[in-house]
Amino acid sequence: THFGFEEVAESDKAQRVADVFDSVAQRYDLMNDLMSGGLHRLWKAFTIAKSGVREDSRILDVAGGTGDLALAFARKLGRGGQVWLTDINNAMLTRGRDRLCDRGVMVRVAQCDAEKLPFPDDYFDCVTVAFGLRNMTHKNSALAEMRRVLRPGGRLLVLEFSQVWKPLAPAYDFYSFKVIPRLGQLITRDEGSYRYLAESIRVHPDQEGLKSLMEQAGLERVEYFNLALGVVALHRGFKF
Ligand code: SAM
Repeated sequence: THFGFEEVAESDKAQRVADVFDSVAQRYDLMNDLMSGGLHRLWKAFTIAKSGVREDSRILDVAGGTGDLALAFARKLGRGGQVWLTDINNAMLTRGRDRLCDRGVMVRVAQCDAEKLPFPDDYFDCVTVAFGLRNMTHKNSALAEMRRVLRPGGRLLVLEFSQVWKPLAPAYDFYSFKVIPRLGQLITRDEGSYRYLAESIRVHPDQEGLKSLMEQAGLERVEYFNLALGVVALHRGFKF
């Protein structure tokens, strides 16, 4: 065949990711609270704190899912600002839009692939992606797209699982490979999706690896902050 192994594996990944989020969308927020003991709320608050948003900022949340970051940003902005909630998955995005509507918060919503963003160059003051980059097939093109839509001086924030402090690794492995899939089975009747979660974390680049990916995509002054001993890291880079 004319398909190389890589291409087949890649299209498998996108399909897998679509299946995972179709399956977990309804219970996604509950699972986040249970798995992280509520900590994901602090990690997201930290992301907002590092975003430098002002009342009139334009913000794009990529892979925004059920809208936690978009909601927090919308509450910080005034009339002149814009928040865009975007995701490739319709089930996640629909849930996000409904949650925000229920809270009386209106943001702009668009279903799109992070690798082909439907926005002009140099448009946003801040682009965020929380727990989304890991799921993307071509992380380099997604990062380059996010940089493209940033205005010069704008910043990209990437919140993602990372490499945990070594002494904690055995306990973390037990938790993520044994406990979380069970919890997933109990709450969502879908153990496989939560096994995928643990696996996808293991193959994702560590702190320094993601920093160099961002630099290769043209981001500058890239730095990162470890959260929960490296379970998660927030990377920040600028476009100049
Ligand atoms: N950002 C939200 C949060 O922090 O709660 C949702 C994170 S959820 C773990 C990952 C999201 O990435 C899913 O909603 C999934 O549909 C989305 N996603 C995966 N691949 C994507 C892509 N290529 N473009 C845009 N979104 C994508």
